[in-house]
Amino acid sequence: MTLHRRAYLDYNATAPLRDACRTAMTDAMAHGVGNASSVHAEGRAARAVIDGAREDVARLVDAKSTEVIFTSGATEAASWAVSGGWTTIYSAMIEHPAVLKPIERSGAKHVVLPVDRLGVIDVGRLRKLFRDHAGDGGKQLLAVQLANNETGVIQPLATLIGLAKEAGVTVLTDAVQAVGKQEVSFRGLGADMMLVSAHKLGGPSGVGCLVVREGMNLMSLVCGGGQERNRRGGTENVVGIAGFGMAARVVAAALPNFAKLSSWRDRIEAHVKATTPHAAVIAQDASRLVNTSCIAIPGQNGEASVIKFDLKGVSLSAGSACSSGKTAQSDTLVAMGLDDEITTSALRVSLGWATTQDDIEAFEDAWIAIMGQTKPVRNVA
Ligand code: PLP
Repeated sequence: MTLHRRAYLDYNATAPLRDACRTAMTDAMAHGVGNASSVHAEGRAARAVIDGAREDVARLVDAKSTEVIFTSGATEAASWAVSGGWTTIYSAMIEHPAVLKPIERSGAKHVVLPVDRLGVIDVGRLRKLFRDHAGDGGKQLLAVQLANNETGVIQPLATLIGLAKEAGVTVLTDAVQAVGKQEVSFRGLGADMMLVSAHKLGGPSGVGCLVVREGMNLMSLVCGGGQERNRRGGTENVVGIAGFGMAARVVAAALPNFAKLSSWRDRIEAHVKATTPHAAVIAQDASRLVNTSCIAIPGQNGEASVIKFDLKGVSLSAGSACSSGKTAQSDTLVAMGLDDEITTSALRVSLGWATTQDDIEAFEDAWIAIMGQTKPVRNVA
């Protein structure tokens, strides 16, 4: 077996900070930028950093810069969007907890959207649900992710948004996992609100934004000073925003390279299937992000597998978590109607901007060492 350095294959959790972002952030710190609300030179310098970053983020997602409102991350942006006084909220259970938890708390009627075994929202059922609930009245919201963090499955967003528009339903899309991995156009999609997070792009954690369509009336969640044109109070995180802006700039230029990751993802999946025929690649036939592979090995506990890979120097994620000796299931995989052996054993491999062939080989070697000996519980492939 070849000796490898650690292989980080958990980009959907967070991407390593890009050098250009680190430099943009240390520059913002070193050059004494002040409070962006101040009129003096230091304040104007901070304002310039924020305005520049807003342009960069807007360009990346094809939105107007005035539509980009910086927040402390996508979780805050989701809480803000969901707290908009909605009477009915439509969403599938495959949404990220950052979206699902505030929906549960909001007091709105939650209409759960079914997904098929590939994790794709059933368009016909959505059309029917919009009709069934048309009489509910009030303000209605469809919350739908662009791509799933666990499986990488991409929703048919243009169709879903088209139906929502016909039904007079406002749309929030969680584009956290899709931005930086493929072209995303806020304008082209026609969504009303969109979530973006810097740390998934190789920027810093603790900063993101809600993109809010021009003219949309949304009361602020965090109020205080008049920052972000009265939409999000609090002294701006200038250093974080500088890193976010730089990430947006670098990522926009790197999109064609990102697309090439699909060949390594396919190689990993071929290796898994060739060496462990009882393993299953989840939603392999769906339209998926090029960097994400969700693999289940029936009979293996996902969390325990993550630890075994970690000991071999490979960082992955499990869809499930083990608490009080009981293996929890991945909510996303449960919503897809998959068996317990799959929902408790899934592993996520996610590649990104610094992934190398060495990392892929390290994964393959570790896979054989850990999974090569496993026996099928039953064939689910
Ligand atoms: N939505 C999705 C799909 C995510 O994967 C994440 C982060 O894991 C979030 C929202 C939350 O983003 P943040 O870490 O910026 O709060």
